[in-house]
Amino acid sequence: MKISQRIANSRPLATTAMHGRVETMRNEGREVIDFSIAISHFPAPPTVLDAVGAAVEQVRTMPYTSVVGALDVRERLCAKLRKENGVEAHADEVIVTNGAKQALYEALYAMSDPGDSVLIFKPHWPAYVATCQLLGLRPILVDLPAEITPEILATCEPARIVIINNPHNPSGKVYTRAELEHIRDWVASTGAQVIVDESYEHLSFDPVHTSLAALCDWRTLGVVTIFSASQSYAMMGWRIGFALAPAPLVGAMQTLQGPITAAASHLSQVATVAAFEAGVQQHMIDEYRERRDMVVRRFAEVPWIVMDSPDSGPYLWGDVRALTHDTVAFAEALIEEEKVAIMPGDALGVPGYIRIGYICDDVATLMEGVRRVIAFGDRFAARK
Ligand code: PMP
Repeated sequence: MKISQRIANSRPLATTAMHGRVETMRNEGREVIDFSIAISHFPAPPTVLDAVGAAVEQVRTMPYTSVVGALDVRERLCAKLRKENGVEAHADEVIVTNGAKQALYEALYAMSDPGDSVLIFKPHWPAYVATCQLLGLRPILVDLPAEITPEILATCEPARIVIINNPHNPSGKVYTRAELEHIRDWVASTGAQVIVDESYEHLSFDPVHTSLAALCDWRTLGVVTIFSASQSYAMMGWRIGFALAPAPLVGAMQTLQGPITAAASHLSQVATVAAFEAGVQQHMIDEYRERRDMVVRRFAEVPWIVMDSPDSGPYLWGDVRALTHDTVAFAEALIEEEKVAIMPGDALGVPGYIRIGYICDDVATLMEGVRRVIAFGDRFAARK
C-alpha cells in the first residue's frame, strides 16, 4: 500500500507517542508514573461544566455552526481578547479550532508554501517541528536566549515565519514587554510573519504575560495568536482552542478546516466561551507553585541535575549533561527500570535535558516519581 512521502518522512509526535506508551502499559495492568506530558489533575472550571450541562439540557439539536465557529461565540472571544489581552478584534478575525494544534497546523498551512523557512527557538514544543515536517517547511532552530535582544535577533537567519511560544514550553520563560517589542521591530524589518502561541497565558506564576498583538498593528504585520483551553483551564481532553488572525488568513484557515472537521463541535464551542471567560484559575496556579517549589527543592540536593525554577507552566526542565547527552536512552532505561515516563530533551530539540510534567496525579505520586528519577540517576552516575 502506498503511503504519502509527506507522512512517510514524518514521525508521530514524541510527546503523544510516549503518553500512548504509558496508556498501553496501564491497559496491560502495569503501573507507571507519567511525567511525559502535563495533564492537570484539576477538573475544568465549574462554569464550563455548568454551561455544557445546561446546553445538553436545553438544546436538543446541536447544529453545525459556521466553520469558523458560531458568531456569538466569536464575539464573546473578542470580548475576552479586549479585556484580558488588550487586543481589539472583529468576529471575522477569530476561528474556533479543535485545540491549539489544529490552529497551528491551519495557520502554518495557510501562511506558507512547501520549502518556506520557519524560525523556532529551541527547546521547543515538538508539534512546531512536526507540523513543519508534515507541510514540507524548513524549520530553522535557534537556541532560545535567556534574554531576547536586537543583537541576538540580528544574528538569526531570516525566515518567512517566526514562531514564538509565550509563555514558553518547556523553559517557563515569560517574554517581557521589551523582548516582544524587539521581536516586533525585527519582524517588521525582515518582513517575516509571526505565529505567537499563548496557550499558557494564564499559567504565569509572577511575571505579567503580555500579548505581542497588543504591542503592534497585528493586521499589517501578519501576526497570528493562538489560544488553548488545555493548560490555562485544565481542559486538555476537551480539544478547545482558537486563533486570532487577519481576516484574509482566517478565511484561508476556514477553507482548510471546512473539509477536515468543519466547525468544532457545538458543545465544544459552548465550553470554549465558558472557558475563556473563566479568567485565571488562581487556586490551580497556587497549587502548581507549591508543587514546583517542592520538586525544585528536592532536585537542588542532587549533584547530577541543574534545574531552574520556572516562571510559568506545568513543566520542569532539567540539565542532566553531567550524566549523559543521550537522554533518549536515559528515558528508555528510566521507564524500563523505574516505571517513570519523562520527555527526553532530544524530542524538544535539545539532548542532555529532561522535561518533567509535574501536575498529573496527586502529590504523593509526584514525589514517588521524583524519588525514582533520583534513584535511577544516582545508579546511572555510579555506573559511569
Ligand atoms: N502549545 C503548546 C506550546 C503546548 O505545550 C500545548 C500543550 N501541550 C498546547 C499548545 C496545547 O495544545 P492543544 O490545545 O492542542 O491541546
